[in-house]
Amino acid sequence: MVKRILVPWAMPEIGKEVLKRSKTEAIFLHGPRGELPPLKKLVETIREAEVLIPRGTQLVPREVIMANPNLRGIANYGVGYDNIDVTSATQLGIPVTNTPGVLTETTADLAWALLMATARKIPQAHNYTLSRQWRGPGGKVFMGQDIGPGGSNRAKVLGIIGFGRIGQAVMRRSRGFRMKVIAYDPLMKEHIEKMRGVEYKGLEDLLKESDFVTLHCPLTKETHHLIGRKELEMMKPTAILVNTSRGPVVDERALVSVIKEGKIRGAGLDVYEKEPKLSPGLSKLKNVVLLPHIGSATEDTRGQMAVVAAKNAIAMLRGKSPPHIVNPEVFESPKYFLRVGV
Ligand code: NAD
Repeated sequence: MVKRILVPWAMPEIGKEVLKRSKTEAIFLHGPRGELPPLKKLVETIREAEVLIPRGTQLVPREVIMANPNLRGIANYGVGYDNIDVTSATQLGIPVTNTPGVLTETTADLAWALLMATARKIPQAHNYTLSRQWRGPGGKVFMGQDIGPGGSNRAKVLGIIGFGRIGQAVMRRSRGFRMKVIAYDPLMKEHIEKMRGVEYKGLEDLLKESDFVTLHCPLTKETHHLIGRKELEMMKPTAILVNTSRGPVVDERALVSVIKEGKIRGAGLDVYEKEPKLSPGLSKLKNVVLLPHIGSATEDTRGQMAVVAAKNAIAMLRGKSPPHIVNPEVFESPKYFLRVGV
């Protein structure tokens, strides 16, 4: 029987090429402009394939995973995999993979761009220029906020929450700005304590001491609303929050309130609690920069992610160990062996 891979979104050509070269059969399922299929359609179509490659923001709940007793794997297109019910997949003996590494530098670039854009109010300055308010000498000067040693003659403090691949890549970018770097990551505490150029802090101390707080942890039960009203109120009134991790790590309604109340200076966001919707009042704030979830969105990086996802999928289709497994315990499960027929 021919085994198939289901790709229910518009995969970059370079990823399709990898699938084609491997002589596996792929089912591409999306609307003419790349629209994702509704859940019902996904449940129906998954019955025709043995491996699923979902987009990183495409929900894969238990209902989808249960729909096909022959499903051999889920190869997520993204490093974060909070869109997939991994607990159910593991219970059912299904390996899940992701695409780490290839998007690290691109996402760190975006986090840094967002930090700078929010600090120096780049989109607002752009709009100011286009709206002809710029009068030249004698006119009102457009003012950004301070970054780096800058006007205050004080090294600014960068607080990194989640000190994995992207968090560390953001730290590397801060060196030219001569910032003091502090980090919170309970799983990396010992590692951080041995590293040069970064100091380990508890969450509360990090929030109180940072001029910029940047989030790089995954979305899990523990990190859901990790940054709520209480945490936001611990931040300096001059501080800026940058989020390129996942929207629900921050209580977005609380964020809108604290910015309105002047309790923090502003925020640069790439991700939201209910994408693509924004919490009421967020788009009305003057001191926010809002991006449409583009952390890894360069053609090259998205292409490399597609290649990695395709390779993971092919390995799982062939019953081999995939390069980037997120639930390795599944390989101990009798249910896995029943599925792959070994
Ligand atoms: P990673 O696994 O290398 O790093 C994540 C770090 O977060 C780990 O060191 C982990 O120990 C830490 N962590 C886990 N729980 C924590 C907690 N409760 N508090 C603080 N730290 C905690 O992953 P990565 O490759 O650096 O990616 C990080 C996240 O960035 C992804 O999970 C994804 O959600 C997000 N991301 C977003 C975009 C985007 O387009 N905006 C792109 C890529 C990645």
